[in-house]
Amino acid sequence: MNVVFLGPPGAGKGTQARRLAERYGVAHIATGDILREAMASGSDLGRKAKSYYDRGELVPDEVMLEVVAHRLRQADAAQGFVLDGFPRTVPQAEGLDRILRSMGRRVEAVLLFQVPQPALVRRLAGRWVCRAAGHVFHEVYSPPKVAGRCDHDGSELVQREDDRPETVERRLEVYVRQTEPLVEYYRGRGLLHTVDASADPDEVARRVEAALREAGAL
Ligand code: ADP
Ligand code: AMP
Repeated sequence: MNVVFLGPPGAGKGTQARRLAERYGVAHIATGDILREAMASGSDLGRKAKSYYDRGELVPDEVMLEVVAHRLRQADAAQGFVLDGFPRTVPQAEGLDRILRSMGRRVEAVLLFQVPQPALVRRLAGRWVCRAAGHVFHEVYSPPKVAGRCDHDGSELVQREDDRPETVERRLEVYVRQTEPLVEYYRGRGLLHTVDASADPDEVARRVEAALREAGAL
């Protein structure tokens, strides 16, 4: 399974990618998670990313391509991957194709997560993530069993800096301007499958698996 999850912030890509990767034993590669870890540890990558991240802008393509090229070569990605939040620009998609070609691999399917904008804003405003591992909750749609604590590892739940309303607005604009052109990029290559992701998480998971089966990626 070598697949890309595409869609606006808050569409539920991370929620579904984590489930799918656990179920099928493939790598969940979330570039946003990689950047948040890098910023928390204060690494070179974290320092490079921070000013873009905080404004809701995209980190430069060459930085992201290096991150993904390295990550795809790690052992757990050999069985397959779900890319979540990457690519986000046409040059990133072209770079991804080059990296995979050099490894004798390719993207098999791209799932476009579709959710109406007002629902995206509600999902982002109520998102809480755990400090330890980035497990994702929602205060209304998927609340933790104990308020403020992760169900999986007990760590503290926090809101993402970039989920503040001003930054959310900017991220949605950036999505339309810089990432949405990928819809045509992948449609033109016959790889695009749309998923109505406005239902509850279990139903969306069924739709994701159905779309992957139809695409021959599962
Ligand atoms: P993305 O990775 O696309 O930005 P997330 O998976 O982090 O999105 O989901 C954004 C927020 O919406 C989280 O708080 C998550 O718990 C919640 N969420 C995810 N999927 C659904 C769903 N199908 N219905 C309602 N809320 C959802
Ligand atoms: P996400 O967790 O996917 O919502 O990403 C959070 C932020 O990380 C984005 O707003 C960008 O600043 C940065 N980011 C994540 N993935 C990428 C990418 N593929 N290209 C550029 N910036 C990215």
